[in-house]
Amino acid sequence: MAPRALASTATVAGVPVDTRHWIGAERVASPATFTDRSPIDGTALASLARGGAEEAKAAVAAARAAFPGWAATPPAERARLLHAVADGVEARTEELARVETADNGALLRAHRRGVMPRAAHNLRFFADWLLRLGHDDFTTRGHTNHVSWDPSGPALLITPWNAPLMLATWKIGPALAAGCTVVLKPAEWAPLTASLFADIAHGAGLPPGVLNVVQGYGAEAGAALVSDPGVRRISFTGSVPTARHIAAGAAERLVPVSFELGGKSPLLVFADADLDLAVDLAVEQYDNAGQVCLAATRLLVEERIADAFLERFLDRAGALRQGDPREADTDVGPSIHPRHLERVDGFVRRALASGARVALGGGPHTELNDATGGTYYRPTLLTEVAQHSEIVQEEVFGPVLTLQTFRTEDEAVTLANGTRFGLAATLATGDPARADRVSARLTAGTVWVNCFYVRDLAAPFGGSRESGIGREGGAWSFDFYCDVKNTVTAPKGWQQHG
Ligand code: NAD
Repeated sequence: MAPRALASTATVAGVPVDTRHWIGAERVASPATFTDRSPIDGTALASLARGGAEEAKAAVAAARAAFPGWAATPPAERARLLHAVADGVEARTEELARVETADNGALLRAHRRGVMPRAAHNLRFFADWLLRLGHDDFTTRGHTNHVSWDPSGPALLITPWNAPLMLATWKIGPALAAGCTVVLKPAEWAPLTASLFADIAHGAGLPPGVLNVVQGYGAEAGAALVSDPGVRRISFTGSVPTARHIAAGAAERLVPVSFELGGKSPLLVFADADLDLAVDLAVEQYDNAGQVCLAATRLLVEERIADAFLERFLDRAGALRQGDPREADTDVGPSIHPRHLERVDGFVRRALASGARVALGGGPHTELNDATGGTYYRPTLLTEVAQHSEIVQEEVFGPVLTLQTFRTEDEAVTLANGTRFGLAATLATGDPARADRVSARLTAGTVWVNCFYVRDLAAPFGGSRESGIGREGGAWSFDFYCDVKNTVTAPKGWQQHG
């Protein structure tokens, strides 16, 4: 995957990727650049334009200039264009998958089969929803109330590196469908598919300025975009500390935000559960090397089945193959960046120092890293962890799970709810009444019963507590990107003071 750096193009996994911003349907360079490396082997993939205040200003200006035209474009035409962009994503699935895997190290087969088709679906779904968006008129003492969804203006979309194009399209779809124009700021550790997406959208006929992409660091490009007075909505997926910065910036101008943040989600396994299913659900949490916001990283297992659970878990998780994410038989790929690997390992070292025990893994995959130059962390399970310890309370965002036991349903719920997060919760039980009781008591944006990661775009998605602000999905997305308006019309002949 050796990069061939040209002035404005890098060839990544055999695919030419423009390294410049995309502003008002033009490629724009910056005086400064930043280097994007592959976590697979540490090679430099591309040197990209590094945006700052100037590029942010230009991109928001382009989005503002395009807004009146896009907002006035009939819904059917907006929907048609979104489907055309989705066609473009589908036509380039293989290239997008290869570039994304090179860039963020997630499994190539997952990108091919699941992620890229989902990215196209994100666009199609909201295009279709737009066409049935509405609310029945209703009357108040003969007056008609008519509800409409007016696009609010340029939307700033800030995304993380763990699922770059999937998360970008999950925001771009509803924002564009709603009639907003967009400035996308992709993560600096995996920015490449955003650039390819700009080409695809342009090729599909999206008018100039409707979609803009500004690359660069969060503290530079991101912060400059957040403070731009032309931005009318900010949708952000990322970490809690970054969300605090963005919220502070947005507060200056009271710009509405939608935040999808971190998690420390539990998997509750009751003794009445199908044990094989529960173990499968637990092992699944190593997907994407644990870099999944929704991951149920806290395994909470009823005490009387804990030994049996652990034995089967170690059998299965111990057999996971870690290695190059482009290989068909790899189960767990690399962590995104050397700095991230160090951070993950720091959590584990401190946990061990405070009494935790390693049941599986427990450190970087040193031989693999030495052999490849990549950043691989072994799938890890820690036991004997205290509820108030850092490893149980803080999001690691790596392949690190903890195991705790409980005796009663009450205790299970208390442990499950006992962090400052509330993104998701998964429970394994064979008793439907227990499933109802427990799920009603869990603090979480999504609860999965005997399943994991089943996500319908029509469903509300978001986090409770510090896991987020607001919900997106279906009509919730349109509520966020629009100024919802009620128009009240008097009946004919009505006299206000008659
Ligand atoms: P991050 O917060 O470090 O960065 C996310 C984005 O914010 C990047 O594009 C970054 O450049 C930008 N950014 C950073 N500082 C900024 C600033 N001051 N102003 C504006 N933008 C700024 O997060 P990350 O490390 O890229 O992603 C991992 C985090 O994302 C984890 O906490 C994970 O749980 C979360 N996440 C949440 C969801 C969800 O749906 N809830 C999904 C995926 C990831």
